[in-house]
Amino acid sequence: MSQFRQDPVSKDWIIISTGRKNRPMDFKSARSERISSPKETCPFEDLEKSGNLPIFYAFPDEKNWEVAVIPNKYPAININELCANEGVVGPYKVVEGVGRHELVITRDHDGNFTTLPDEQLKRLFLTFKERFKYLENDPCSNYASLFQSYGPTAGGSLYHPHYQILALPIVPPDIKRSLEGSLRYYRETGNCVHCEILKYELHSGARIVYEDDGVVAIAPFASRAPYEIRVFPKKHQSHFEESSDETIFHAAKVSAKVLNAIKSVLGDPDYNFFLHTSPFHGKTEYSHYHWHMEIIPKMSLFGGFEWSTGVDINSVDPDEATKLLKEAIK
Ligand SMILES: [Zn+2]
Ligand SMILES: [Zn+2]
Repeated sequence: MSQFRQDPVSKDWIIISTGRKNRPMDFKSARSERISSPKETCPFEDLEKSGNLPIFYAFPDEKNWEVAVIPNKYPAININELCANEGVVGPYKVVEGVGRHELVITRDHDGNFTTLPDEQLKRLFLTFKERFKYLENDPCSNYASLFQSYGPTAGGSLYHPHYQILALPIVPPDIKRSLEGSLRYYRETGNCVHCEILKYELHSGARIVYEDDGVVAIAPFASRAPYEIRVFPKKHQSHFEESSDETIFHAAKVSAKVLNAIKSVLGDPDYNFFLHTSPFHGKTEYSHYHWHMEIIPKMSLFGGFEWSTGVDINSVDPDEATKLLKEAIK
């Protein structure tokens, strides 16, 4: 059975088509083998030797860091003290590619965040918050993107656990659409669309993978990819960096739990893990928005139909994904 489903926020359409490849073992054979790279050649074992300096932030200190924030040696954008200039080239609008591109790294060469002890996990996520608090004061940055690309097919070229923060002069298109969808719903109903979704999903229960006091992990009704999961704070909050340390720690723990369940169901798939939050300069303007984390395991390849229509075909019903992950949650 196939069904078109529309995401109420993005207004994107997807197709749930479960007649195709959908058993977990089919995916297992498709996953890439995780290859550990030797510590001797790892650039994050000795930051001075590998030239990954300066350290922007370290906990507890620069010498004994458990978590460190360093510049990305190969930034996607130019680091500049000046704000981006806007311009026009013929019919095209351009903005200088300036901003900041930072890496957040943890000490253990093999310790992805899903395996860290609570104290270190908390410290890592509070470092994200800390960095957002710092970057929001940068007049040139409008939005900060936080993400982890885990494994080569997800775009992660380095083995040592690392998380990236890109501070941008523009609001990126996916965020813009999400903000606009949320605003449209708010104007029509006076409510936050994500709060309404959570209310419905918590009542229905069919797509709740896990919940605790502070956050809830759901398999979206219009999941674009197999085993796609979103993690929401239960209490409405537009800006990640404004949430309490406690809530952020809950989001970290639940994200780790869900990823460990994905690992036990699907092997050890590559994945993308990222944050959707409001732009810095709009604490009241974006009060309708509800920040969340998204987990997208790399399961399916983007095909011709997807590129030509923007409609993703998902071969796993999110209700089915929920059942399997729920059983595997520890
Ligand atoms: Zn390392
Ligand atoms: Zn909300």
